[in-house]
Amino acid sequence: MTDSTSSIFKTVDPERRSSTSKEVVTQLREMIHRRELRPGDRLPPERDLAKLLGVSRPTLRAAIRSLAAVGVLQSKQGAGTFVVESDGPPALDSAPLRMMASLHGFTTSEMFEARRSLEMAIAALAAERATSEQMASMAEEIAGMFASLDDPEQFLVHDMRFHQMIAASSGNRIMTALMNMVATVLFDVRRKTVNRARDLKESAEMHRQIYRAIRDRNSDEARNAMRDHLMLAQRAQESEEKETNRGEEAA
Ligand SMILES: [Zn+2]
Repeated sequence: MTDSTSSIFKTVDPERRSSTSKEVVTQLREMIHRRELRPGDRLPPERDLAKLLGVSRPTLRAAIRSLAAVGVLQSKQGAGTFVVESDGPPALDSAPLRMMASLHGFTTSEMFEARRSLEMAIAALAAERATSEQMASMAEEIAGMFASLDDPEQFLVHDMRFHQMIAASSGNRIMTALMNMVATVLFDVRRKTVNRARDLKESAEMHRQIYRAIRDRNSDEARNAMRDHLMLAQRAQESEEKETNRGEEAA
């Protein structure tokens, strides 16, 4: 799409103005389905697009925000709003899940159970499909973990990257997107408590077992190692949370 084809944007039906921002979302989605808008395309500037669609700028902004939240559009500072490229890992924003979690009071243990189910399946697939480059990147993150045993925040960065690399190696982008959404919510909690972490060495050791199973192309072992790791991670997080709460009460 170029600026000269801005005629593809039709004015939103005035009779349906009541929910215009939803209408804009539908219209943009349909344009993507019809491939009138393609991955990587830049949308016209906000002012122009609002005029083309016949909606106000706040309405347009709301529509863009909700399409960004589900990983369809991406706003880049100073560069504009783009249709997300399909070759990168697809991302589901974790905000809707976080919203659901607080509305319905999801427990940490439910979140962990969901993450565990997804990641066990992902690890098994990674054992079948990981390329040697992907395995090399996993090994690098493991080395990074062992190098940052005294620096929990840095450790957590390598930890996250390791899991993302396994997800990328699974070759299933749907499971990867779901896993990232759940993991992001859990990592946000973890970031607040990680400074109380004690057993980073044991944790690094467990990551190494997952890596070895994947390297040995042993799907069952990869699945089991991932389960053990996430069970321990859950227990660690629960006790870190307890201590953090206690610390706050004392303070
Ligand atoms: Zn981990």
